[in-house]
Amino acid sequence: MPSAAHTHAGGIHPLCYGHYTEMRPHEAAGRLVYSCKERDCPVQYTRPEGYFLDVQNRPLKHLPIPPHQYCPNDRFPMYLLEVNRKQHFRLWRCPKCSVIRVDGP
Ligand SMILES: [Zn+2]
Ligand SMILES: [Zn+2]
Repeated sequence: MPSAAHTHAGGIHPLCYGHYTEMRPHEAAGRLVYSCKERDCPVQYTRPEGYFLDVQNRPLKHLPIPPHQYCPNDRFPMYLLEVNRKQHFRLWRCPKCSVIRVDGP
């Protein structure tokens, strides 16, 4: 394993919007797709598309429809960066320009 330095520019760590756990990146059809680690969770994420549900392979559970938060600067779909359950807010981040948006109840 080469000890490549982790750069913040390339690495993003989107959370599953259903489980609030970090998603796992993998390559699929030449693009980087993030999937939830929870069994049977259909939530997926890609940078250009944002969140979507992989309903072809897995049963659709009682999950909310994918949230579509868009960056106010460039309209890029944002990803869930952090969730604070105690204070009931969620932080969204744009993978393109890194702007952060807070979404409260
Ligand atoms: Zn999930
Ligand atoms: Zn942006």
